Amino acid sequence: MISKTIREEVYNCIKCGICLTPCPVYKQRLMEPFSPRGKVQLIRNILEGRLNLSENFIRILFTCLLCETCTVNCPSGLKVDFLMKAMRTEVIDKFGLSEEKKVLFEFLTGQRPLPANPFREGALNNILTALFPIKGKAGTDPFNKSLHPNGQSFLNMVSEVIKVPQPKGRVLYFTGCATNYLDGAVGRATVDVLSRLGVEVIIPKEQLCCGLPIFFAGDPKMALPNILKNVALFNRQDVDAVVVECATCGAALKKEYPHILREMGEKTDKALALSQKVMDISQYLMRFDFGGMLRPVPGRVTYHDPCHLLRSQGVKNEPRSLLRKIPELEFAEMDGADVCCGGGGIFQWEHPEISEGITARKIENIENTGATFVATGCPSCRLQISGNLKKDGLEVVHPVQLLARSLGG
Ligand code: SF4
Ligand code: SF4
Repeated sequence: MISKTIREEVYNCIKCGICLTPCPVYKQRLMEPFSPRGKVQLIRNILEGRLNLSENFIRILFTCLLCETCTVNCPSGLKVDFLMKAMRTEVIDKFGLSEEKKVLFEFLTGQRPLPANPFREGALNNILTALFPIKGKAGTDPFNKSLHPNGQSFLNMVSEVIKVPQPKGRVLYFTGCATNYLDGAVGRATVDVLSRLGVEVIIPKEQLCCGLPIFFAGDPKMALPNILKNVALFNRQDVDAVVVECATCGAALKKEYPHILREMGEKTDKALALSQKVMDISQYLMRFDFGGMLRPVPGRVTYHDPCHLLRSQGVKNEPRSLLRKIPELEFAEMDGADVCCGGGGIFQWEHPEISEGITARKIENIENTGATFVATGCPSCRLQISGNLKKDGLEVVHPVQLLARSLGG
């Protein structure tokens, strides 16, 4: 049931249409129902009982990247993304998740055990291609080209506490599923940079998927045990910060957990305390001056703003400032750096025809900079960008990987 506060958001829409032009989905579709304004009006009609939850409405509701561009551009302050997430919950409450999503999310919540040795070559790809057989691609590449699962779980590869002599700081590190299963190199770079700067790192081994993909798909009930477990593990006051290097996980811990719990009638005090401690790795690293520690990394770098870092968490300057500190690494701002890459988690698999158009523009802007590196703090964006690059010789990385390289890691 949508709460009164969110339900009343629909009356804040003055139908000005300012949200239309910046919406990446509307730009591809150019039809009112696919615009943020169109979706808000459809939701209003449903809530007022003038429209039914038809198949067509559900298709339109889920044709959205949840990129929050509409929310930050709305002059009435309407939280369009909150409204659409609440409506998705209403829809899934009534009709349930598709079988494919249910299976995928059962893996993420631990309700369904992963197959024996999921890290052997091809095992993870087999699961994904079985679930999404037709659209089993990341960008233009089939899964088996783009996804290279870790040899073993990152959480199993590292110690729970990584001590340093005379620590200058102490953090908890929330790794997220992408680092744990697919991109252990980012996890290793994060630990390496923090350790070299003299920060003790604690990586709670029992941490679970942040649950945001499940919430975004409309099933907060299924995500709830993960949320409660993560809040219990990470709400600690004996650390400087809870650092996160995945934009979506950061958005979960910082912004969405208190909101989800409030909407579900759960207590929010611990989630609110945790959200105060959460920092993107780039924000935390800005407190160090790196004086004389950084070695040259020759090349040119451009930076793509992940939606969940820029709009959900307000992090824009920190990753750029860190990259600019690296000697002999020229920073080149691309056009439209803040525009969604078109990935949107599983959006690219469900709506490849819309996703392709959005991503093509992003790739053009990246390649026009002549960069040798494109850095971004979101695993889904890295997958989408690397799967669609046209030119060779461009490396897709997390900013922390370039810092680790510059520090000699
Ligand atoms: S910008 Fe806000 S007020 Fe204007 S049409 Fe869009 S949702 Fe409505
Ligand atoms: S969240 Fe993004 S894709 Fe969805 S309606 Fe708003 S601007 Fe468009």
